[in-house]
Amino acid sequence: MVNETCVIVGASHAGVSLALQLRREGWEGEIKLIGNESELPYHRPPLSKDLFAGKKNLNEIRLRPAKLYEDNKIELLTGVTVNSINRNSRSVELSYGEPIRFDSLALCTGARANKFPSAERFKNIFSIRTASDVEKIRPSIVKGKRALVIGGGYIGLEVAAVLIKQGLSVVVVELADRILQRVTGEKMSTYLTELHESNGVRLLTGVSASQFEGDDQVTAVVCSNGSRFDVDFVVAGVGISPEKSLAENCGLNVGDGIVVDEFGRTSDPMIYAAGDCAFHPSELYGRDLRLESVQNATDQARVVASNICGKQVAYDSVPWFWSDQYEIKLQMVGLSEGYDEMICRGNSDLADKNGFALFYLKRGLVIASECVGRPKEFMFSKKLIGEQIKIETRLLSDESIAPSEWVG
Ligand SMILES: Cc1cc2nc3c(=O)[nH]c(=O)nc-3n(C[C@H](O)[C@H](O)[C@H](O)COP(=O)(O)OP(=O)(O)OC[C@H]3O[C@@H](n4cnc5c(N)ncnc54)[C@H](O)[C@@H]3O)c2cc1C
Repeated sequence: MVNETCVIVGASHAGVSLALQLRREGWEGEIKLIGNESELPYHRPPLSKDLFAGKKNLNEIRLRPAKLYEDNKIELLTGVTVNSINRNSRSVELSYGEPIRFDSLALCTGARANKFPSAERFKNIFSIRTASDVEKIRPSIVKGKRALVIGGGYIGLEVAAVLIKQGLSVVVVELADRILQRVTGEKMSTYLTELHESNGVRLLTGVSASQFEGDDQVTAVVCSNGSRFDVDFVVAGVGISPEKSLAENCGLNVGDGIVVDEFGRTSDPMIYAAGDCAFHPSELYGRDLRLESVQNATDQARVVASNICGKQVAYDSVPWFWSDQYEIKLQMVGLSEGYDEMICRGNSDLADKNGFALFYLKRGLVIASECVGRPKEFMFSKKLIGEQIKIETRLLSDESIAPSEWVG
């Protein structure tokens, strides 16, 4: 491996973890980490949390200090786009500079925010995927301004929480019948709806933003139920799409992302993919998944690095995720889709400040949990799910039994 070169496309959570793990695994050849953002890589979750709220600046959320890349002999090329992959010559074409030859290639290209139809026309319809997106919105975050958020998913709700706390008026418009419908159960949606409404956010569900008034700036949004809101700006949190075009254009298999096997290998055994862009098999859930979380990006990237170095490690982590809204920390583990029973531990009333945990079960096994202010429940349910431990369900709701006792 001494004279071999590993090229990594995408310098964010997955790309950076992969590069560092290669060195830990003993990769002695060159590592070229190429990212098209001009920034030193940074943590993405704070974009809708502390960075958005102005509590942190970009330098406080760097993934790693610049020196660490140098110390590990990782050549970090920022502001450079990989335009294409030539599989015959085993090289990548860049937006500038000579093509780079690779022995192994890892695609960590992540995802891009979906644009809301008609957003292109207006300068004040924003989405949040990058630090530069946040910079574009920042001048609009002024007390007294009127914001409309399209999409009651995690990012939309985090944005709403920050904006209302900064003294703006905030309306959230969600097409589904309840917020977070795609990812959570009804009880959690109800809790979060009450949390937002008690903070002054106006939430409309079962409603879409159907008409935008204004020339190059939106001045009002008309919704499908006829309601009309004067606005100073709009934030669209309407999901993301995997960045798979590089893979697709060079003939690799793609689906809802770049198709990889359990080792993170694409249909070309010298090319790997990890993170938000990768569509991978999950033995735990018995199907192919594409996950959008820091845990998945970093864990999968580490596994891929080991495999590039010659190991045969299968990736099958239990997915987990978090969200910060107002003072609450929500921690989720597993995927609740297909559950047939839900158990609540604690009290999910807003007035109750002791937190609560929701457990989703399928045929008696916990497949997911969502915890508000309950780190122990979160930690031990991760174990229950990962090791598929079957326990008496009454133990989940019985507060006199500590979560550590669930796993014996
Ligand atoms: C606002 C926001 C809040 C979030 N909050 C949370 C949270 O609370 N918890 C959580 O777990 N996850 C959260 N996420 C999701 C998490 O950030 C992603 O899952 C994670 O960033 C995925 O990492 P990645 O490296 O796979 O992809 P990305 O972070 O998307 O990085 C991919 C990089 O590749 C670059 N790239 C793409 N194509 C090319 C090319 N051709 N040439 C060069 N470079 C290229 C992109 O510009 C980008 O820099 C949040 C995401 C956002 C946007």
